[in-house]
Amino acid sequence: MSARIISGKEISQQIREELRKEVQELKEKHGVTPGLVTILVGENPASISYVTAKQRTAKDLGFYSVQENLPEEVSESELLALIDKYNKDEKIHGILVQLPLPKHINERKILYAIDPRKDVDGFHPVNVGKMVIGEPCFLPCTPHGILVMLERAQVQVDGADVVVVGRSNIVGKPVANLLLQKRKPVGNATVTVCHTGTRDMAAHTRRADILIVAAGRPKVITADMVKEGAVVIDVGVNRIGTTPEGKAILCGDVDFDAVKEKASAITPVPGGVGPMTITMLMKNTVEAAKLWAGLPCEVG
Ligand code: NAP
Repeated sequence: MSARIISGKEISQQIREELRKEVQELKEKHGVTPGLVTILVGENPASISYVTAKQRTAKDLGFYSVQENLPEEVSESELLALIDKYNKDEKIHGILVQLPLPKHINERKILYAIDPRKDVDGFHPVNVGKMVIGEPCFLPCTPHGILVMLERAQVQVDGADVVVVGRSNIVGKPVANLLLQKRKPVGNATVTVCHTGTRDMAAHTRRADILIVAAGRPKVITADMVKEGAVVIDVGVNRIGTTPEGKAILCGDVDFDAVKEKASAITPVPGGVGPMTITMLMKNTVEAAKLWAGLPCEVG
């Protein structure tokens, strides 16, 4: 039987409606408008499309939003000065620097310069540290989105064998960490992390009740690597071509057509984890605004 599709698009829409109401209430009751600045350096087509989608969503939800487009050759010190300006700007609660940055800019230096209380991407080491020890903080958007998808799709995570393919700082490591924590409603799993040094990856993936794949390799997970009835979360976004109209053709890290016949539930690409990532960025910005206004919030 074909798997249930876990639609990130639909779950995102629900959360965005909740956020829209919350933003309206923040404005009306507290005079607070969540403010987000997105900073784009250069003209990487994927980065442009991500930033455009983030800006469009922020505007749609009623945020105060600012877009900064900087040329590829901008210096590190100019970028640091811009971050400093927004760290001090009271109308801005969230600062997002779109990655990757050009090679002449030290990415770590830039991320460390963002005030952790405005770090809505959750990449600052203060937030990463708080996440690892289970304190309230800005969770990184993609792992947070995966957790919310599992929750809203009512997937049994407590006690499950979870296998994560990939150990990047933005997806693999944080999602593995969050799922192993004794946290409710989504956590308390037994987690295995695979990477290019893993000897027999299929032996691990075949044991997974929940398989999360963030390798950045088109269709690296084939049906024979998946247990019957597993829940499969495909994080991969691979550009494998262009349509005659010039639109990117995307594919995930999972061989969707074959795996959906074996899994009990699966996320599509596009329309799966991608929209959730943007939605959790909006959620973090709303939480940041509440934090700055001294209102009860989920971050600290
Ligand atoms: P990344 O930094 O390139 O990390 C990829 C990880 O996968 C690495 O840990 C790598 O192992 C591992 N890996 C690669 N090939 C493998 C293989 N054949 N077998 C086992 N492990 C393998 O990538 P990322 O930033 O985490 O992103 C992963 C994918 O998710 C990309 O397609 C990216 O576009 C997508 N993504 C999507 C969203 C979204 O919102 N949907 C957000 C972020 C990323 P080593 O550590 O050993 O090199």
